[in-house]
Amino acid sequence: MAVFRERALNEAASHQTGRFYFENGPVSGYFGQNVLDLDKMRGYMSQQAYEAVLASAKYGAKLDRSASDEIAAGMMAWAIEMGATHYTHLFHPLTDSTAEKHEAFISFKNGKAFEKFNGSALVQQEPDASSFPTGGLRNTFEARGYSAWDPSSPVFIMDGTLCIPSVFVSYTGEALDTKVPNLKSLQALNVAATKVASLFDDNVSAVRVNLGIEQEYFLVDESLYNSRPDLMLCGRTIIGHTSAKDQQLEDHYFGAIPSRVSSFMKDFETEAYKLGILLQTRHNEVAPNQFECAPVFCEATKAIDQNMMLMIIMQKVAERHHLKAIFHEKPFDGVNGSGKHCNWSITTDTGVNLLSPGSTPTTNLQFLSFYASVARAVYRHHYLLMATVATLNNSYRLGGGEAPPAVMSIFSGSTLYGVFQSILNMDEVAESSENSLESIKIVNSIPEIFPDNTDRNRTSPFAFTGNRFEFRAVGSSQNVASAVYVLNSIVAESLIEFRTEVDKLESAGESRSSAVMTVVRRFLTEAKDIMFEGNGYSKEWESEAAARGLRPIKNVPEAYEVYHEKQTIDLFKNIGVLAANEIEARFEILNETYVKKLQIEARVIGDMCLNHVIPAAVRYQNILIENVKGMKEIFGDESINLCSSEIDTLKKISTYINTLSADVVALVEARKKANRIEDIGERAKVYSYEVKTMMDKVRDSADNLEMLIDDEMWPLPKYRELLFF
Ligand code: ADP
Ligand code: MG
Repeated sequence: MAVFRERALNEAASHQTGRFYFENGPVSGYFGQNVLDLDKMRGYMSQQAYEAVLASAKYGAKLDRSASDEIAAGMMAWAIEMGATHYTHLFHPLTDSTAEKHEAFISFKNGKAFEKFNGSALVQQEPDASSFPTGGLRNTFEARGYSAWDPSSPVFIMDGTLCIPSVFVSYTGEALDTKVPNLKSLQALNVAATKVASLFDDNVSAVRVNLGIEQEYFLVDESLYNSRPDLMLCGRTIIGHTSAKDQQLEDHYFGAIPSRVSSFMKDFETEAYKLGILLQTRHNEVAPNQFECAPVFCEATKAIDQNMMLMIIMQKVAERHHLKAIFHEKPFDGVNGSGKHCNWSITTDTGVNLLSPGSTPTTNLQFLSFYASVARAVYRHHYLLMATVATLNNSYRLGGGEAPPAVMSIFSGSTLYGVFQSILNMDEVAESSENSLESIKIVNSIPEIFPDNTDRNRTSPFAFTGNRFEFRAVGSSQNVASAVYVLNSIVAESLIEFRTEVDKLESAGESRSSAVMTVVRRFLTEAKDIMFEGNGYSKEWESEAAARGLRPIKNVPEAYEVYHEKQTIDLFKNIGVLAANEIEARFEILNETYVKKLQIEARVIGDMCLNHVIPAAVRYQNILIENVKGMKEIFGDESINLCSSEIDTLKKISTYINTLSADVVALVEARKKANRIEDIGERAKVYSYEVKTMMDKVRDSADNLEMLIDDEMWPLPKYRELLFF
């Protein structure tokens, strides 16, 4: 067998299962032990400094110099007790990953070493002119970017380093990360939702967003992974014939978790618990070697920070198990890809879930107000919301008859859908009319007819699941913040308009409940085209959605054009989430990332074909040639018939080799042509139209060769090995 592949398979077979991260006793004994939460902080600083942190964490109050020095000293004392030697600001640049730059606590003076960490180091770090994407927001001559501590997220220790959750901004204050717009959107939504909630209850003074983020992933043995250049460099297989058996028997989903995997899960859960991540579920997913975990939902910023940490922990822990945790949305053709479902809900500071139908007519009216506002927001900005999940990786998954389709729709469940239909079928709601009575009847009836939160539709990108919405189209490797701040912003916009319209009707003399019902009905009427209860994978829905004017994501760079649409620019400006230049920066970064990723993929596929596939094919060709020659020596002319199969295979192999070589050349040409295009948006489009299309052709020949060549000679681990080891 090809030496490299054989060694990888032998190594993979020798990898043992075991536990490397183990804590005695129940989880409650070590849960959160590596996090310095507000409670613990109290023990490391004066009451005055503690109150300053509290005010800053809860209300964004500014810290003065002496308080921040004391807080820093307290944090360092705790960190050193916990064995930490370094600190870092940890932020979320526009790359879907986290960034960190470690600094040692240790300092030297007069030849003596001592530990030092002061307030200014805590509050601000300057990752030197590092090359994070900025989309032109940061000129190279003023290349400074600042990370600044976000006191609303607690500091924690990972790998002996005190990690300080931070935001990342340019010298001139523009957001260079996903956290700043997310924090702004949460604040906007808080204000807007509080105003609507207080129509129903005066006691509501704040509203928060909750997120429960389900994380899907694949595991691949490390030795096999290391012998696949495509997995190593692109996170996915770029060539590879599908395995005869993959997920068709549906025997993996929710099946018994293999012991090596379960040891890995227990280990990363232990590490996650220490960071205060409340992981609750783990199970096998649909594809072989695909799994999922989910924490209990919590406040949105924390949920996002924790999800980013979780991915890091999983990758680190996987290494100890000789596994690779793969978060790419589509690592393998032909089997399901991975997503990151975002379960999103909003609750008041009085403890009410605003997306939960209640037990009284008032709470139901409140529920309908929020539901209608979300539905209208998603309808108005359906293309923008889908564009937040449009990435190169996710484009291999979305719309593939497995993941959510590429066009937005909301699934409500039959009961609720019925309620909406009755509301829509009413004539104008007016105080004294029959309809008012009718509407009260409808609203009253919700609690009794609402037992169907088991009603699931897995083909909808945005499904209501009883007390929350589940945005299912987000990709598994994404930082969900960019999808979530768009969702928060569009809902904030709708809620502002909701309240304004209710106020107008009230001042014109309508009663509050009648005014609310009128606006609910208006919003539902506007949103009705986004509601769809059927099979989102079906062909009929594709045409039906088009007839309703819903725009599908057909092409990733084309989707990014939505950032140039007036409706988008106005939204972000009015809600105060992103200024025009910050939107433009994101447009550029998204396109640049798309181009760079595709460029890497195109190079890798070219390399794999020229240096792995074709040489193997030629070697096998030579064996066949030797065979045919030998047969001719023995059987003379008769050998032509006797060797017809070998000759046929030889012809096929030669044809594929020629096609493949020519296509690789054409792929390089397509890339060169695209690279000459100055405008980044246009370049990305040409990459998607031409480079991506050419890559499909190249793959086709390579995969056909894989099926023809002696298995012993094939140099790369095959799908069946990657998926079933
Ligand atoms: P499923 O796969 O059926 O969707 P999971 O248990 O895998 O269910 O994930 C559900 C996720 O939704 C969990 O993270 C859970 O905490 C979260 N969740 C439950 N209720 C809410 C809620 N009201 N708001 C936000 N997230 C929620
Ligand atoms: Mg789910």
